[in-house]
Amino acid sequence: MTVVAVDGPVGSGKSTVARRAAARLGYVYLDTGAMYRAVGLVATQAGLRLDDEEAVVALARSARLRFDSAGRVFAEGRDVSDAIRTLEMGAAASRVSVLPGVRRLLVEEQRRLAGDTDIVMEGRDIGTNVFPEAAVKVYLTARPEVRAARRAAELREKGDEVDDAQVLAALLERDRRDSTRAVAPLRKAADAVELDTSGMTLDEVLEAVVGIALARVGP
Ligand code: C5P
Repeated sequence: MTVVAVDGPVGSGKSTVARRAAARLGYVYLDTGAMYRAVGLVATQAGLRLDDEEAVVALARSARLRFDSAGRVFAEGRDVSDAIRTLEMGAAASRVSVLPGVRRLLVEEQRRLAGDTDIVMEGRDIGTNVFPEAAVKVYLTARPEVRAARRAAELREKGDEVDDAQVLAALLERDRRDSTRAVAPLRKAADAVELDTSGMTLDEVLEAVVGIALARVGP
């Protein structure tokens, strides 16, 4: 089993690059952020307070989170793949992700889903916490303005009306919460390769990540 851990903040290029790197390497791909988003969504729809750990964990347990082979995400039997991709659900994910009970549950699930397959797993704490022994660890960053512009373009592409300042403010708030939380905060693992993607195209980032992985584990 080979684990490629791709961590980094919002808009660093993680998702696109991790998905395409998995396809290139012939590995399974797992987006762990989608799991936190799905928990944020079901908790919001159930009208729970997002800091009510006991209630959110109970709901997360019963939500039956599932991914299909096309990468669609299901919760409570419903396809929530599109509903979780909003600015609001990014914030909700970040809020439920500070709850230790939620993290315990989802990390256990992430390790179970990985099984003994070769996998590219992306998130915030994969290299530091979920798979500290991962063979390959990449930490992607970019300047906040660049990350906000990428995220705003993504949201506009799917028809959301957002302005850059609003997206930048939400992103800075999420960065702050993700990197200051007590349990498994966002940070680079000591042995991760850090790539600043600010001046790079996604194709260039992809080539770099695939190159790093192949150099470590061979073709
Ligand atoms: O990557 P994405 O933006 O979809 O993640 C949504 C939120 O889920 C992050 O802001 C973070 O709070 C949380 N998350 C996490 N640990 C992970 C992946 C995501 O705490 N491994």
